Amino acid sequence: MMYAEIVVNVPIRRTFASRLAEPPVEEMEPWPPESAPGNGAAENRAASTLQTFHYSLPPQLEGQVRPGHLVWAPFGAREVQGFVLRLSDHAPVATREVLRLARPDPVLTPVQLELATWMADYYVAAPAEAIKLFLPPGLLEKEGQGAGVRAKRELQVEWIGPSNLPDLGAGEPDGGQDNWAELARSTPGSRTLAYVLAHADSRPSVDEVRDACALKSPSAVNTLVEKGVLRQDAEGRLSLAQSREESRAILASMQGLDRYQPLIAALRAAGGPLWKSDLAAQTDGGAGLSLLRDLAAVNLISLEERTRFRDPLAGRTYAHTKAPTLTDEQTAVWQAIRARGFGSRLRAGARAHFLIHGVTGSGKTEIYLHAIGETLAQGRQAIVLVPEIALTPQTVARFAGRFPGRVTVIHSGLSTGERYDVWRKVREGEFDVVVGPRSALFAPLPRLGLIVIDEEHEPSYKQNAEEWGSHTVFYDARRVAERLADLSGSVLILGSATPSLEAYQSAQRGRLTLVQMPRRLVGHGTQEGTVYAELPPVEIVDMRQELRADNRSVFSRSLQAELHATLDAGEQAILFLNRRGTNTFVMCRDCGAVARCTRCDSPLTYHERAGTLICHHCNRKYPIPTLCPECNSKRIKYFGTGTQRIEELIGEIAPRARLMRWDADTTTGKGSHEQILERFSNHEADILVGTQMIAKGLDLPLVTLVGVIAADVGLFLPDFRSGERTFQLLTQVAGRAGRSARGGRVVIQTYSPEHYVIQAAAAHDYAGFYAREIEYRRELGYPPLQRMAKLVYWEKNAEKAQAMAERMAQQVQAQITALGLRPESVTIVGPVPAYFARYRGYYRWQILLSGDDPSAIVRSLTIPFGWRVDIDPVSVL
Ligand code: ADP
Ligand code: ZN
Ligand code: ZN
Repeated sequence: MMYAEIVVNVPIRRTFASRLAEPPVEEMEPWPPESAPGNGAAENRAASTLQTFHYSLPPQLEGQVRPGHLVWAPFGAREVQGFVLRLSDHAPVATREVLRLARPDPVLTPVQLELATWMADYYVAAPAEAIKLFLPPGLLEKEGQGAGVRAKRELQVEWIGPSNLPDLGAGEPDGGQDNWAELARSTPGSRTLAYVLAHADSRPSVDEVRDACALKSPSAVNTLVEKGVLRQDAEGRLSLAQSREESRAILASMQGLDRYQPLIAALRAAGGPLWKSDLAAQTDGGAGLSLLRDLAAVNLISLEERTRFRDPLAGRTYAHTKAPTLTDEQTAVWQAIRARGFGSRLRAGARAHFLIHGVTGSGKTEIYLHAIGETLAQGRQAIVLVPEIALTPQTVARFAGRFPGRVTVIHSGLSTGERYDVWRKVREGEFDVVVGPRSALFAPLPRLGLIVIDEEHEPSYKQNAEEWGSHTVFYDARRVAERLADLSGSVLILGSATPSLEAYQSAQRGRLTLVQMPRRLVGHGTQEGTVYAELPPVEIVDMRQELRADNRSVFSRSLQAELHATLDAGEQAILFLNRRGTNTFVMCRDCGAVARCTRCDSPLTYHERAGTLICHHCNRKYPIPTLCPECNSKRIKYFGTGTQRIEELIGEIAPRARLMRWDADTTTGKGSHEQILERFSNHEADILVGTQMIAKGLDLPLVTLVGVIAADVGLFLPDFRSGERTFQLLTQVAGRAGRSARGGRVVIQTYSPEHYVIQAAAAHDYAGFYAREIEYRRELGYPPLQRMAKLVYWEKNAEKAQAMAERMAQQVQAQITALGLRPESVTIVGPVPAYFARYRGYYRWQILLSGDDPSAIVRSLTIPFGWRVDIDPVSVL
């Protein structure tokens, strides 16, 4: 007898004393409840073990079921889906039988299954949730007896008729042989016209026509004459009243053949098969099934249902590019990577993990491309992670252009069908390179050999535990990629101009091999040889001095002067503001009350164009207050400056400059990022005002000035990473200037010019920043010097929230004792209300654990519903 250990896709709430084949029916309760918000809470240790159950395999499934298979199995009174974790020849308990396979092939590769199991353990999450990360959405939905989303089948149409098909109406309708004739509707009128057309030169008599066309009466002839289609001369002989061409068209319409004309024209022009929906689009919808069936019936076209790939890159063409010769600096870096990473197929256990620390524009992407080329040459495949694909169309184009037909993308903008198709095709080995955000890590490439993480420092690589929604594994793609590289024997390359402290520290400790690319490249392979650009000079402007000099504008005198100089030179500028909306908050001048979101308590932002106040936390909109709700005063004031306001203010100082705004408000539509980017790079605007988004890897040669309006925003948030974030942001934004031989300048406006973060960013001094920052983390026991786990509780009732948080803190203390840990080996902060203490009507409390291995404590806890477990949190806000 064979048994399968199965992770059932059912959230289970209860704790069971022992591992059962399945829980008694009355113990089962779906978990979490549909409406619950804290459903992010990783189910506890109980779930991690209890979600696996033993089932026996019926004889007909033996030998068919493999680890990674999705199956249907009985569970209490229900049938549920489950993932086969492993097979064994014994089971610890009595078992029921697996019912059937839900899909013919395993849905996870062995490496993926191992990775999922590791993730569930590392992130203290339910195994089913970890496994589901590897599957396209919709796959598990119930559809009949199988699994949900399917391949798309569509009719494909191809012309198979003669290439010299005579024109419509040209033939003898009663000839019988030709395909047209079979389709043509035969009426007395159509027969008459056809006959006269064919015998126009001999001017047939009415009798002759009646005879030849089997007309019972002359009325058809008379009608055609009356309508001016035929002419009858004095002797009663018939001829065409219209030109031959027009007569043919009239005949075609009388025969009902004109309906086919656009279809046939499109099909013949295509010179190959066309999908029915594409044909319909080309013919203004005139590709109805009955028309197609008619044509197929007379063997003019073939109609066949085929699987259609819903291609996320459909309709895009990428110019094929060749690898340039590397610069000396790139050659050195590439050789270092190649020697360690690609010498031979990586032996299991060998590590080839690299960190490329290279300034923006130093040529890192070219190294990634070389690494991919080498990987493909060895018959293996690559995953390339980029922070936010909508913001990096240029990057996608570079990969797709270098390896035509072998690259596909995964991102959140894809439809369920597209995602499923990409997953399926990747699994079948039809693509060798997958580009996408963190979830692209889960692409089922069968021969993975390389993982690249571009802009490694980006916070978006971590699944955000603060997010609304039902993500239950708050994983960090960088950590998971490391594990995946080890499991699959792949090379791992991280790249950044501003590496995360974690990555840089790993490099310092030798876990990653550090390679440096300190110089920005502007030209290579030209007559001038390799040309490097200086990093742009950065000027720090002390905004306190501006006030003292009586400049109350948000633009310092220096920034104004630079802006004018840039515009005069016909160049472009980027103004960066870490904030959107017109103003940041709305306050009563008399009592100081601030307009806040009733669900989140966070101050509301005034959006002038929308005419509303918006909560940037939950997006709820509020009317603009005319009276203070606290004291009824009419003296309401708007404070702060957002992107919209900046736009207006520029209008005042540089009225002729063409402006463009790039922030979350202007980029809601599909493809809007790409459009803004393209329009700006086509110089359709002189100044781009934007938030974080513009800090991403854009390559805009005409941009010679970057202005940071207020560098301090974010610097003083009570989060141990606020300094690191600000440094990264300032460095990245500054990196947008001077990407060409024109050079560039950066102006950073700040109220804290002496702060080490600002100073280091202005000096492009990563090492200096790192030295200060790591020291600060060491002093306070923050990551990466200690590990951290965050427990967050969500609850609508304020008292309950606090009580539950306190109860959890007691449990934590009890477990520390139970595990025999020294109390001083763990630091516990909390329970305290989270920084964003209210969110969408929920109160949020948190407990932070830091130490050498806080996860061990978390694993030992019983975690009630409503809690979220965040291992290695990227923020403690
Ligand atoms: P990064 O990824 O570090 O920002 P890129 O790889 O995008 O840098 O390189 C910056 C610019 O230099 C790009 O325009 C790129 O096309 C160009 N470039 C990079 N390497 C070479 C090379 N070896 N020869 C010519 N141009 C290069
Ligand atoms: Zn008031
Ligand atoms: Zn809100």
